[in-house]
Amino acid sequence: MDAVNEYLRLLEARTTLGQKSVVVGGFSQLSSEEQAQLVRLRQTADEALRSRIQPDPEASLSLLMTLLDRRDTLGEHRRLVDYVPAHGLPRVFESCLPALALDHKEAEAAGLHLHHLTLNKLQDQAPELFHDHLPALFREKDWSRFDAWRGVGLRMSGELRREFERPSVDRAWAQGCLERSDAVENYNFLAQALGVHRLDEAGMELKDGQWRALYPDVCYHIQPSAPDLTAHNMTAPTHMHLDDLSWRIAGKGLPAEYWGHQGPPCPHCGTNLQHLLTIPKPVPGIMLDTPLTFVVCPYCMIGDRPTIFVHDEHGLPERPEYHGLGFDETRGYDFSDLDQDAYKFPTQGFSAQLVATPPRWLFQNDFSDSQNMNRLGGPPSWLQGPEWETCPKCQQSMLFLFQLRDGLAYTNGIIYGFWCASCRVSAILNTYT
Ligand SMILES: [Zn+2]
Ligand SMILES: [Zn+2]
Repeated sequence: MDAVNEYLRLLEARTTLGQKSVVVGGFSQLSSEEQAQLVRLRQTADEALRSRIQPDPEASLSLLMTLLDRRDTLGEHRRLVDYVPAHGLPRVFESCLPALALDHKEAEAAGLHLHHLTLNKLQDQAPELFHDHLPALFREKDWSRFDAWRGVGLRMSGELRREFERPSVDRAWAQGCLERSDAVENYNFLAQALGVHRLDEAGMELKDGQWRALYPDVCYHIQPSAPDLTAHNMTAPTHMHLDDLSWRIAGKGLPAEYWGHQGPPCPHCGTNLQHLLTIPKPVPGIMLDTPLTFVVCPYCMIGDRPTIFVHDEHGLPERPEYHGLGFDETRGYDFSDLDQDAYKFPTQGFSAQLVATPPRWLFQNDFSDSQNMNRLGGPPSWLQGPEWETCPKCQQSMLFLFQLRDGLAYTNGIIYGFWCASCRVSAILNTYT
């Protein structure tokens, strides 16, 4: 635990100097030695965290528990949750309970800012921890606690349904909880009440009297090889480092290729089509009868949402044939105001493995925490709410197949890939913050 004590010492020195800068009226009012010292302390502390604590699950747990006890106010410490061993999560949760019924502002006022942010992460990774506290969540009706209701089944469904039926501002909140419950009875209730056949948050569709998921229930993380990951971290600026735990899922996977080689020119704008992902052969749990290669025009996809390709019998994309609402055949696109330097994709391909996703990472919504969001199957991580696609050929719902955190954070967005097996049509949808 030397590393933890060392880190706490650095943190204390950093905090003391940070507080002084507030007292004197800001960083620029510190003496030049103090400014340099503060910068150095920050760097040394970050380095200690990254190289000595995060690689050690027990040290991560010990540090996070200490910081929660001390009511530390540094929000970035929430990221320690990702490195805590699974058996430590209930202890962390217990520590955060005082913030459970507080919204963001109340938590901050009560000195429980870190507790609140830690709960945000725990509801993604271990929603079951919240299920003994549903009455408190129900009273609070906090929209940022939706994911604590995932997999809750029929617990409190009576209360939720009554809330939904009442004409009140909390109707949509109750619907969000019922959709996340993973209970067919709740889906039936909502479908009947709303007169719909698809529940977007649940990603479920009622077809021929049966509910079916619009995404594969198995999930694989797309994990670049260790040398590629290391090379990326050596060359990319710090904020783009891919060093979170979900980037290093243990175990062997199936080979896949992503990013890399450019294809033929886009028929609409002449830019070379960009390779996104090749699934080399049918993957267990995902019903595909051929390998599949997905491409997109990196420029046309900005306005053409989604971009549609028809694939041949080998799974290779043919010329794009259908377009989403954004495309105007007569007008084409004007990209003259696009910053072509900022908007680019890795042309160097990554050899990758499809590694089975551990339960803890099955649901991911941490867009700001540099987690590995490159996934095949599983529920999509919606950046701006659900956008399920409909096949333009047969008008049936398409199956969500994969998502890429586009450009490995070269730009800040997510690309989603959908598939209609009967028409062999793919839809690529891009989303930016
Ligand atoms: Zn194009
Ligand atoms: Zn179709």
